[in-house]
Amino acid sequence: MERPPARPSQRRLMEAIHEKVRACELCMLCETRTNAVPGEGSLDPEVMVIGEAPGAEEDLQGRPFVGRSGKLLRQKLTEVFGEEPSWFYITNVIKCRPPDNRDPQEDEVIACRPYLMAQIAALNPKVIICVGRHASTQILGKPPNTPMRELRGKIVKLADKLVVCTYHPSYLLRNPRATPDFISDLGIARRALRDYDKIMGKAGG
Ligand code: URA
Repeated sequence: MERPPARPSQRRLMEAIHEKVRACELCMLCETRTNAVPGEGSLDPEVMVIGEAPGAEEDLQGRPFVGRSGKLLRQKLTEVFGEEPSWFYITNVIKCRPPDNRDPQEDEVIACRPYLMAQIAALNPKVIICVGRHASTQILGKPPNTPMRELRGKIVKLADKLVVCTYHPSYLLRNPRATPDFISDLGIARRALRDYDKIMGKAGG
């Protein structure tokens, strides 16, 4: 089924956020990036996927999750969600590649946070899928060293959003045995979307 296009005001807001991200100089990563990577996908998404930070391929293309781990993520989303992956919006906690793919630093996360929060507010997804510990702890407000096993495998209600956390696809490339858990987590996210009204206690759900 086709989703209706985003409202013009929502589209303009997202375009403005994307432009701000592309021109951003709030942290040192602007000096080493090729392209900032604001995010992409539906501008009226049911589901938003949040990763950690762009890698080498994303930095070159200015698009999120287009390298090896991104292809794996997109493939698994398609498998689990069927026809609907174009309903997603995909972005990262930080929008510029950290040199040598090191972990994002606290000052970088803090500088980038308003962009992520503005994207969530503008897009207003029902379900947020966090891939990896950085995105999961940022969104859930947990200590950054919280182990993934404590975060994944469940639905967390956060105001009017349902959040599901899972492994980062680059972890799956190193540890393929975690793939069934990853697929199970995506299945939980799919059920969260299907049962959104019921879980939120809305009439008719
Ligand atoms: N890893 C991420 O977390 N995000 C990307 O966009 C690519 C790789």
